[in-house]
Amino acid sequence: MPRDADCIFCKIVAREIPSSAVFETETVLAFLDVGPLAEGHLLVIPKQHYTTLVDVPSEDCTRLAEALPRLGSALMAVTSAEGFNVLQNNGKVAGQVVDHVHFHLIPRRSGDGLGYRWKPGTYPKERTEQLVLSYRASIDAQ
Ligand code: AMP
Ligand code: ZN
Repeated sequence: MPRDADCIFCKIVAREIPSSAVFETETVLAFLDVGPLAEGHLLVIPKQHYTTLVDVPSEDCTRLAEALPRLGSALMAVTSAEGFNVLQNNGKVAGQVVDHVHFHLIPRRSGDGLGYRWKPGTYPKERTEQLVLSYRASIDAQ
């Protein structure tokens, strides 16, 4: 299993440091976040080391995506949450601290005080068109 010698999540995968694992397959591991934003906060990772989401090949991505609804469903049952957030930070600027790609599953309840700034902007019409063309070209080039 390719790994990064300094990566804390690779060490968790290798059982070199302990974790509270709740789900494991050949490719995916889920465990309790040690610093939970809410009780039952889970982290879901590929066992192989990739830094951000764009580094994950499609097979591992598929396995991760398959795990998310299963774990979300378990989270709702176990924590009696009213909902949950799936949060996935890529890069330091986006809040990524551990450089091994991971999904947060965060139980939510009304009045829990969690939240984030969400200040929607607007586009001038030309910018929307430019962006759509740029996106389509970039995706087609992959
Ligand atoms: P992020 O800011 O998206 O990189 O999130 C990293 C998360 O990893 C944080 O929520 C930490 O609480 C969590 N974390 C760091 N070390 C451990 C660990 N040894 N076991 C479980 N969770 C961890
Ligand atoms: Zn790693």
